[in-house]
Amino acid sequence: MTDKPLGFDTLAIHAGAEPDPATGARQIPIYQTTAYVFRDADHAAKLFNLQEVGYIYSRLTNPTVSALANRVCALEGGAGAIACSSGHAAQIMALFPLMGPGRNVVASSRLYGGTITQFSQTIKRFGWSAKFVDTDDLAAVEAAVDDDTRAIFCETIANPGGYITDLDALAAIANKKGVPLIVDNTTASPYLCRPIEHGATLVVHSATKYLTGNGTVTGGIVVDSGKFDWSASDKFPSLSQPEPAYHGLAFHPALGSMAFTFHSIAIGLRDLGMTMNPQGAHYTLMGIETLSLRMQRHVENAMKVAEWLEKDPRIDFVTYAGLKSSPYNARVAKIVPKGAGALFTFAVKGGYDACVKLVDSLKLFSHVANLGDTRSLVIHSASTTHRQLTPEQLIASGAAPNVVRVSIGIEDVADIIADLDQALAKATA
Ligand SMILES: *Cc1c(COP(=O)(O)O)cnc(C)c1O
Repeated sequence: MTDKPLGFDTLAIHAGAEPDPATGARQIPIYQTTAYVFRDADHAAKLFNLQEVGYIYSRLTNPTVSALANRVCALEGGAGAIACSSGHAAQIMALFPLMGPGRNVVASSRLYGGTITQFSQTIKRFGWSAKFVDTDDLAAVEAAVDDDTRAIFCETIANPGGYITDLDALAAIANKKGVPLIVDNTTASPYLCRPIEHGATLVVHSATKYLTGNGTVTGGIVVDSGKFDWSASDKFPSLSQPEPAYHGLAFHPALGSMAFTFHSIAIGLRDLGMTMNPQGAHYTLMGIETLSLRMQRHVENAMKVAEWLEKDPRIDFVTYAGLKSSPYNARVAKIVPKGAGALFTFAVKGGYDACVKLVDSLKLFSHVANLGDTRSLVIHSASTTHRQLTPEQLIASGAAPNVVRVSIGIEDVADIIADLDQALAKATA
């Protein structure tokens, strides 16, 4: 191979995956082991001092899991990455080195329902809080960032409403205020968008979705751009100052662009234990090999289904950013030029009851609380994933009662449309 940087599709298959040094195995083995034998006492000491990189115990690192982290890191164009047990774990792991009691994160009001609950309720137990803002109102975002803010958080394509976030605009505010921008890139995947190129500091993923791609794994990833200067202010002492939780190591002065990644392994995974398992990592690696092919078909099918639905008289509106009618259509060329994803909502004439009937009448679509599967999926968010939200939060997050969310799969598009057609006939009869 030449020295030219490898293309995305090549990295999706090869990044992080040298033939196994012990056996020559071409596919990455599942290293189903808890611990690793030290060469001698000196080797062990060097590993624990972070003077040498190697494996100690699988709560921290494991070769199969590291291969996955390194592959997603390469696809996102980051400096380092860690894999963890779920997308929700990844979000806590991304915030953990930055936050402390009394600190807050400024978060988009358009987020995955589970994230809204995690941020508005559960993180309060750590003394952290979230301030939700409409990320189209840039003045409101800027005004929300105060002296205790330690990050701005958004999703590339916001779940569930077909909303595209202006990442560059949020990155400019984050930059001005000296805080990192964290982007949940789950619904776009690095094939459609690489947030670091738009100024993101950290990218988080639920690997459960498009990265694995077939609904077999629960996993998460945090990718660090390596570009944020954690020592530029006194806001991030766990990274810039001697850290008592790791015998006084000052991560950023000692490790530079790898500070966040090493902190996340040496303290985050060590003490929070939200580790990914090697078998799950293996499935996700297999999924990523076909990420580009799948995403191409996902967006192609989603566009055709959205266009068909928009013309149907039984539908009130379709919120797919790929449609010319979408207020976010202009952002597609800038943020997700290869396509606006495959997740969107549509409103059925007949409201809540018609939506419930529609979901019950679909045959090819699976009624599940998931997205990013090869299979077409449907959910009525207001009665399921988003039912813990207040009426105001439901509207703000795009999950109004008359709205159904679909995750368009990679089946024959004619079959997807035929299924919607027969179910709409029953729902609106
Ligand atoms: C599913 C999802 C999550 C949570 O991921 P889990 O793997 O289910 O913990 C977070 N963000 C988005 C956008 C998601 O779709």
